Amino acid sequence: MTETYLVSPSQFRVHKTCPEQHYYTYGLQLRPRKRDTKFDVGSYFHELAHFYYQLLKSGYKIGDPHTISAMDTKLRNDLKEVKPSFQKTLLQVHIMFMRYLKRRTSVIDSNIEILEVEKELQLLVPGTTVGIHGILDLLYRKRGKLVIRDHKTGENKSAHSNESISFDDQLLTYAVMVWKIFNEIPIIEINWVNSKVDYKTEPTNDQLFGHYTKTLTKDYLEGYWTYLQEYVYHMQTVPRIRSMTTFKCKQCPYIDPCLFALRGLDNRNLIEANFEKVPRNYDYQRFTEIAKANKDSRPDSSSQTNELDFGELRINFS
Ligand code: SF4
Repeated sequence: MTETYLVSPSQFRVHKTCPEQHYYTYGLQLRPRKRDTKFDVGSYFHELAHFYYQLLKSGYKIGDPHTISAMDTKLRNDLKEVKPSFQKTLLQVHIMFMRYLKRRTSVIDSNIEILEVEKELQLLVPGTTVGIHGILDLLYRKRGKLVIRDHKTGENKSAHSNESISFDDQLLTYAVMVWKIFNEIPIIEINWVNSKVDYKTEPTNDQLFGHYTKTLTKDYLEGYWTYLQEYVYHMQTVPRIRSMTTFKCKQCPYIDPCLFALRGLDNRNLIEANFEKVPRNYDYQRFTEIAKANKDSRPDSSSQTNELDFGELRINFS
């Protein structure tokens, strides 16, 4: 039996950026040995959001002391378990999440009926062995409407708007999957949370949060579904070629091996030294699983600290 090859929205995005980058990322399954802190912040925020919305789904109430206490216990346990070199990232996300709990969730989550938290979906592309694969952050119903929410973090709020969400290929891919699987056209929504924590004065809610939605139509989703199928065909049939532009290459983690290969040089030692092979589910691994202290390894004394202070949250974990 032929195995289904799963493609995620992230994989589409990398392929659209540069097919050669896609080859390094998903063909060779390489990632830089030095981790990207921005990726860790987003990954851990998603993990906390998953925990929080599971609490709400199981009956905990927004703003209730039991809910705050359950989250507090989770945050403190995570801090004890991770390697010292990850603790600063954890504390940064703790501040983001505590702000989210105190100032945001009661605004955007009141009267929602949570249907799924981190729901995994797969949709086979007809006539192929390719399956489109995705994990929805949150699927809920409000006033009868089905809504897919995606949590996004970062420092650039202007990267999102009610207009740009119409072209958000990750959310549109999820919307197609929900429409095809549940036979209902969903609304798509971005829940943006600022990852900047070190403000000199108290930041406003407008600085910290953003909320963008788009109501979709059947025509729009049909068009996007046709486009997705065409793109899968394109990925399978068109030979890979570099998308060389200054902007893309300057930001590309594979620039050194790529330029070595372009000049006809052997890049294997460079790859061996700077990259590691990761499992196919790497993008979906939980941050705390990666960051947990290895009992056999020595503490990372270079970055170990007993107290971190971000102004409004100071935690001593000695
Ligand atoms: S350096 Fe440029 S051409 Fe090479 S893989 Fe990266 S984006 Fe593509």
